[in-house]
Amino acid sequence: MSDYQIPFNRSDPMGRELEYIASAVEGGWISGDGRFTKKCQRFLEDKLGVRRAFLTTSCTGALEMAALLLNIKPGDEIIVPSFTFVSTVNAFVLRGARPVFIDIRRDTLNMDESLLEDLITPKTRAILPVHYAGVGCAMDEIMEIARRYEVPVVEDNSHGFSGKYRDRYLGTFGELATLSFHESKNFSCGEGGALLMNEDRFVKRAEIVREKGTDRSRFFRGELDKYSWVDIGSSYLPSDMLAGFLWGQMEKYDFIQQRRRQIWDYYFARLNGWAGTNGINLPQVPPECEQSYHMFYLLMSSLEERQQVIAFLKSRGICAVFHYLPLHLSQMGLHSAGRKWDCPATEEVSDLLVRLPFYNSLAREQQDVIVEALFEYYGYQD
Ligand SMILES: *Cc1c(COP(=O)(O)O)cnc(C)c1O
Repeated sequence: MSDYQIPFNRSDPMGRELEYIASAVEGGWISGDGRFTKKCQRFLEDKLGVRRAFLTTSCTGALEMAALLLNIKPGDEIIVPSFTFVSTVNAFVLRGARPVFIDIRRDTLNMDESLLEDLITPKTRAILPVHYAGVGCAMDEIMEIARRYEVPVVEDNSHGFSGKYRDRYLGTFGELATLSFHESKNFSCGEGGALLMNEDRFVKRAEIVREKGTDRSRFFRGELDKYSWVDIGSSYLPSDMLAGFLWGQMEKYDFIQQRRRQIWDYYFARLNGWAGTNGINLPQVPPECEQSYHMFYLLMSSLEERQQVIAFLKSRGICAVFHYLPLHLSQMGLHSAGRKWDCPATEEVSDLLVRLPFYNSLAREQQDVIVEALFEYYGYQD
């Protein structure tokens, strides 16, 4: 537990989550692929219009499955932003891939599509757009280049469930996409994720890879009289108790997204004038994007200012955080890439970004406390 009056994040039941966990236990099925897992998967398939969705133990697990399904081998290159969570890269490095780090745009903090084509080589085996803060990457340009060079696209859509690009849901552009249901995301079951498949050709093998390399799913459907080891794989099925919690959240999809939108809009409305006066940048959402309302961040003018603001908020019991440390400069990033990539925008943004508390049960009064603290620190009169 933290001593913060206003934590950075918390995950509260929004509906019948606890009832569904109890129901999974009472029904006698708490391993994977039970009733609630199926409900969640169908919801994702219907909502997003993907061919298939498989719940996984995490988004990290879903990314690992993607690397397995694409047969990533030592020496294969993947193009990935340095400004992301380690798992986007690590899942592929586990298979021996060499990351090629692409810099980000300074407006959306997404992969800079104008740099993409020059990074493609005959060894490129995947492009990994991360829809930062649930604001879509430039998918028209990225998909056009990917198709021209016949390179598969895997969208890390951890932030962007419910977000759209040109009226189409994020996660439906690439051959594969992943979602996270970690506690810090819009919809959560503590630890969880999903692999989204937009092509039928992945489904059969994904089922095997997810079940430790066995054809147990076919056995359970009565298609085989025994199951056996047929491929490589691992354990990527979440317990149906977790799926029960997640289903409780998914049933509240509209309510949760509406809440998050109110929280985001309120921060923006209250902070816009202050930001303009103090040279602080607020998130930008291009007109072709409908964001997912995953986070609210500020871009300060310097690293010192960023650190001081976080410290001041902390002194007021408010937990604000920063991320991501550039992966291309990390020990493992340098080692796995075998060279130092040049990502100046990533390095700059990484020093300037502050994330404000953002979670489904964040009350307006708490937002007022946060906003007033920022105003006070800057001596700003509303
Ligand atoms: C949260 C996150 C992940 C990892 O999600 P887990 O479900 O915790 O494995 C991966 N990529 C990005 C961009 C994330 O924000």
